[in-house]
Amino acid sequence: ELVSGSNSKEERIFVSVRLRPLNDKELARNEASDWECINNNTIAFKNSLPDRSVVPSAYSFDRVFGCDCPTEQVYEEGAKDVILSVLSGINSTVFAYGQTSSGKTYTMSGITKLAVSDIYNYIEKHKDTEFVMKFSAMEIYNEAVRDLLSSDTTPLRLLDYPEKGTVVEKLTEEVLRDSNHLHELLSLCEAQRKIGETALNEASSRSHQILRLTIESSAREYGGSEMKRSLAATVNLVDLAGSERSSQALSAGTRLKEGSHINRSLLSLGTVIRKLSKGKNGHIPYRDSKLTRILQNSLGGNARTAIICTLSPAHSHVEQSRNALFFASCAK
Ligand code: ADP
Ligand code: MG
Repeated sequence: ELVSGSNSKEERIFVSVRLRPLNDKELARNEASDWECINNNTIAFKNSLPDRSVVPSAYSFDRVFGCDCPTEQVYEEGAKDVILSVLSGINSTVFAYGQTSSGKTYTMSGITKLAVSDIYNYIEKHKDTEFVMKFSAMEIYNEAVRDLLSSDTTPLRLLDYPEKGTVVEKLTEEVLRDSNHLHELLSLCEAQRKIGETALNEASSRSHQILRLTIESSAREYGGSEMKRSLAATVNLVDLAGSERSSQALSAGTRLKEGSHINRSLLSLGTVIRKLSKGKNGHIPYRDSKLTRILQNSLGGNARTAIICTLSPAHSHVEQSRNALFFASCAK
C-alpha cells in the first residue's frame, strides 16, 4: 500500500526525504539498511515487520534522495528554489527534520554553503542592483533563545511589533562582506554551539539552530527618476532538534505539555506545519513556542517552505525512521 501525501492546491511546502548511508559503526555491527528508494518519489521498507498490516510499507514525497545522492543534488532539487525565492522578496524556510545522527547537520551545513555561493553568483550577475546581505544565527534550547554570534549566553527576549511581527531583541546581525566572511561566521556559530553542548548535556540533539540570511536589494535608478525598486526578504535555514524526543508524542496526538522530555518548539512546529499543509485558513498556533514565533513571518502566508526529512537506514533506528516519515507525510 502507498501513503501518498495528497497534493494540496498550493504547493507551499516541499517535502523531501534523504536517506543517509550506513555508517562505519552500523556496518561493524552488521546492520542492514531497512529502506529502499524505489524511485525519485518513493521510499519503502525492504524488510517486513510484525505489524506490517497497520503500517504503510511505502511512502511518497515530492522527492526522495537515496544514500548515494550528494548534498549538491539535495540542494538543487530539494531546497534551491525555496531559498532563492528570497531574491524575489519572498520569505522562506528550509528545515532538516529527523532523529539525532540521521544527517540533519550534514545536510543543512552543505545546503547553507551552496545557497550562499548561488546568492553571491546572482549578485555578481546583477550589477544594476544594490544588495545588502545580513546574517544572524540563534539557538533555541529549552525554550531559551541564544545568540550564536555572541559569547553572551543570556537568553534573548522576543518582542512583538504590529508591523514587523516578532523580533529577537539584541540579536547580532552582521552585514556580510563576502562568502569568506560568512564562512568565518559559520565557524563562530559552530564553536558557540559546541560550548553550549559541553555545558548542557546533549544540547545539540535537543536544540534548534536557526541561521538567518536577510537580503535587501534596490535596483538603481534610471532616467533620473527617484524611484527605486526595493525588496527585502529573509531565508531561515533550520537544523532542528533530534525528533526522537517528541515524534512519539506527536504521532500519538498527545497534548502539548511542559516537560524536559518533550520539546515544545518541535511539537508546536509539527502542529503549525500540519495546519498549514491542510490549507486551513483558521487559527495557526504560531504563538505556542519560541521556534514558531521566530519563524512566523517565514512560514505560511506567502512564504515558501521546504522540509528535508533525514533518515538513518539502520534497522536499530526503524521506529524513529517511521516516526520521521509520519511527520513528513503530515506536512504534505
Ligand atoms: P544529526 O545532525 O542529524 O545528528 P549529523 O549530520 O551529525 O546528524 O550526521 C551524523 C553522522 O553521519 C556525521 O558523521 C555525518 O558526517 C554523517 N552523515 C550524515 N549524512 C550523511 C550522508 N548523506 N553521507 C555521508 N555521511 C553522512
Ligand atoms: Mg546535528
